[in-house]
Amino acid sequence: MKIITAVKRVVDYNVKVRVKADESGVDIGNVKMSMNPFDEIAVEAATRLKEAGKATEIIAVSCGLSQSQETLRTALAIGADRGVLVETDAELQPLAVAKLLKAVVEKEQPQLVILGKQAIDDDAGQTGQLLAALLDWPQATFASSIEINEGIATVTREVDGGLEVVSLRLPAIVTTDLRLNEPRYVTLPSIMKAKKKTVEVVRPSDFGIDPSPRLKTLKVVEPPVRKAGVMVPDVATLVEKLKTEAKVI
Ligand code: AMP
Repeated sequence: MKIITAVKRVVDYNVKVRVKADESGVDIGNVKMSMNPFDEIAVEAATRLKEAGKATEIIAVSCGLSQSQETLRTALAIGADRGVLVETDAELQPLAVAKLLKAVVEKEQPQLVILGKQAIDDDAGQTGQLLAALLDWPQATFASSIEINEGIATVTREVDGGLEVVSLRLPAIVTTDLRLNEPRYVTLPSIMKAKKKTVEVVRPSDFGIDPSPRLKTLKVVEPPVRKAGVMVPDVATLVEKLKTEAKVI
């Protein structure tokens, strides 16, 4: 069984981003970039399936600038066997990424595609669902466990009311939630080994896909600064303030 994992290069989760002065977006010049944390979980999940003898090959796919090769190298160091970079400097939105991933899926014919549940930069949470729709494949989003047996994926999903277990006939799409696993620490020998693995570079035009954005960002602004809180001496004063000032009770 071949597995594709989708890995996105995003601003590192430790970086506090700033809005650009012209409010056109977030300033990502000179900030640390890393693999989207949910995608690390996806690569770890695929690697564990391979280690358990359930998968034969893992292909990591990234769409974006040529620097996304670094993200692919991290995926290769975790356990992916080879990488595919769909290189473009277009601003990529989920629908374009889903179309590009569909093209790679049609070429590679995997049985399972694992994506993150959301990218921490755009917070869209759409790509896996769009890809499943475009391929007309079953999907299980927000997975906290994945088991594969005889062509069936049994996935536990984190839903509002608790946990839901679904069973999908492969080929299928799964998106990862935080509790699926804890990605391994990438060691120096695995980084060295990853350097020898291949990364194929293709372009959207090779698949006849126009990745240009369909949505226009009008402006990006900082969230309003929260007002300082007030300490109240007792419950009676709190209730009084909720009634007369906040007018919520
Ligand atoms: P989003 O729908 O943008 O929140 O992203 C959800 C998931 O789709 C991410 O966790 C990745 O697995 C995948 N994805 C999104 N954008 C890209 C990209 N440019 N390259 C590769 N995978 C991506």
